[in-house]
Formats: sequence, C-alpha cells, structure tokens
Amino acid sequence: MASVQLKNLSKQYDNGFLAVHDISIDVEPGEFIALLGPSGCGKTTTLRMVAGLEEITSGDLLINGVRVNELEPRERDVAMVFQSYALYPHMTVFENMAFGLRIRKLPDTEIEQRVGDAARILGIQELLSRKPGQMSGGQRQRVAMGRAIVRRPKVFLFDEPLSNLDARLRTQMRMELGRLHRSQGATSLYVTHDQVEAMTLADRIVLMKDGAVQQIGAPLDLYDTPANSFVAEFMGHPTMNLLPGRIDGSSVFIGDLGFELARPIEAAERVQVGIRPHDLECHLNSTDGHGFTTEFIETTGHETLVHLRRGELRVTAVARSNFPVRTGENISLTFRPARFHVFCGSTGRRL
Ligand code: ATP
Repeated sequence: MASVQLKNLSKQYDNGFLAVHDISIDVEPGEFIALLGPSGCGKTTTLRMVAGLEEITSGDLLINGVRVNELEPRERDVAMVFQSYALYPHMTVFENMAFGLRIRKLPDTEIEQRVGDAARILGIQELLSRKPGQMSGGQRQRVAMGRAIVRRPKVFLFDEPLSNLDARLRTQMRMELGRLHRSQGATSLYVTHDQVEAMTLADRIVLMKDGAVQQIGAPLDLYDTPANSFVAEFMGHPTMNLLPGRIDGSSVFIGDLGFELARPIEAAERVQVGIRPHDLECHLNSTDGHGFTTEFIETTGHETLVHLRRGELRVTAVARSNFPVRTGENISLTFRPARFHVFCGSTGRRL
C-alpha cells in the first residue's frame, strides 16, 4: 500500500488551455479516493498525470514520498483500468491478464499463480480461455480489473470503469468493486461523474469544477456540509433546491416567506438558501405550512417528486409513494429551517 501526494499540480495543454489548476490531494495508504465532477472538469487529466500518461506542467507528484514527475508510466508501479476496457481482442482472457507480467519477464509459474488468484477473486475462472469478443461488458470489465490486479501495483487508477455498463450491471459491479477494495485494501484513485458511485465507494471524495478542487471530504461531509452552492447542487438526488433569499438579523426571507434561522448570519444580505427536497414536507388539506401549487409530479416507485410553485418561487419536494396529489392542486408545505444551507449570494460560499 502506498501513499500518493498531489502537490499543487497543474496541467496546461499545448493549446494553452489550463485543464487542472493547482490541485493538492494527500491520499493515505489504502485509501479509496473518488475524483468527482461534471464533464470536462479535469478528472481524467488529473488521473493521467498520476499515471504518467500526461506530462505535469507544474507541481509535484509523490508516491510513497518519492517525487515521480519524471518517471515513465511503467516505472511508477501504478495500474490503470479504463472505461473502454482496452483488452487485446486476439488474446484470450488468460493472455490478456498475463501480458503485462510476460513483458516484465516473470516466470511462467508465477504468472499462472497470479492470473489464477485474480481470476478467483473476480469470479472469472471459467472465462480464462475465451476471447474478449465472446464476453459481456461486465465480464470484460472484470478482465480489465484482473489485468490490473495481477500486477500488484502500488496504486490503482480507475477511469470511469463502469460507465459502459447498463444500470443493473453497474450497481452489481459497484458492489463488487467495493468488496474488492475492502479485501485488497489497495490505494485507489477513481474517476467518475456519478455521485452515487463516488458516495458508495470512496473513503473521501474530491469534487472538482473547472480544473479546481471545490471540496475534499468524506461523502457525508460533502452531503451534509457542502462548502459552496456548487457542491450542494452536485451532491444528492433529487438536486437540492437553491432559492434566492435575503437575510435580516436571524431571519431569512425567501420570496414572501420568512423563517427564523438556527443561528444569525451577518456576512451577507443576499444569499442562496439550499433546501434538500427530502427536508420539505407536503400536506394535503392542512392549515400548517405554506400554500404551494403543484406544477408537475414524477413517480419513481418508492417516492413521489412534487414540483411546486408559489409566485416566482419554485421548489421540488419529496413525498411518499402514491402521495395522492394531482397537477394543478394546491398543497401545504412545511420547511425545516434548522436544515437550511445558506450560501453567499455572490460567491456561493457556505455561510
Ligand atoms: P469527462 O468526464 O468528460 O471525461 P473530465 O473531467 O475527465 O471530463 P478531462 O478529460 O480531464 O475532463 O478534460 C478537462 C478539460 O481539458 C476539458 O475541457 C477538455 O476539453 C480539455 N482537454 C483534454 N485533453 C486535452 C488536450 N489534449 N488538449 C487540449 N485540451 C484538452
């Protein structure tokens, strides 16, 4: 198990585009870190700098305390698993997994042992003589992981390994990956744009936007105390409501509604108030709460998403499954101000 340190890493591509800007992450030995963020935020570029596939423009990359900026990929002792699997189509599964070891001239008995062990861990012993074209996407992804495992690298790098799989297989492979990590305990950096994948797999999440880190923390830290409105909106499903608000002493006003805050906020007058849909409660025929009109309804099976409007104010709330409301009907909504997230109206920073 190895530590990995990214110290003020930046990447400027030849065309002048600054894809990653001053990123610093301390990965502990055995830790599973997810690099999360929207398309184009620089996740893959960061991973490729760690792998040695992309030159580092500035900053230092350390593996086990040793600076490796100038080392070739194969000298860094890292293994990368790609979204596209990148298997050799003409080789069997066994040969695909053995390939890297043969290049390193390991003895045949050692190769057989390692491929056998990895195949057992991944449950693909029966596939060893097949070729990639004769396998499903999930099986191919297991082989791609097997190829990384047999190398026993210091660090595993995953670039959206599950994004070519259908939803069900993705969930299954996600659980397998989690189990694999718990049993092997290898230091891992995992790129994804899927917050559920990041939340369920990672010890810590690095959430990125426009090449810069927005927040680093345990999944629930990002969910419960987002550092800014971008993190707040990115984490959680359905998306957090972000409503323009005005602070006056210890009160916040959202449209024509006023709420007493748990603590006074003095830093700003104009704010954004973040309210998770699960923190709003819908009532039919109730005099409690505030009147809203239902604009449309989405049923997911286990709950009902209710999109509501009051004047200019639009919010989404989560109600129980089969909540008997129809589009156009008026309902009453109760808020839980103690669970409001308040962000600066200009910078988006958490207040
Ligand atoms: P995705 O989830 O879509 O893969 P990402 O977060 O992994 O996105 P990167 O692939 O790291 O993002 O790309 C970051 C930015 O750098 C993007 O705006 C991309 O267009 C740009 N970029 C990537 N490769 C190059 C290149 N070789 N030359 C110039 N710009 C590039």
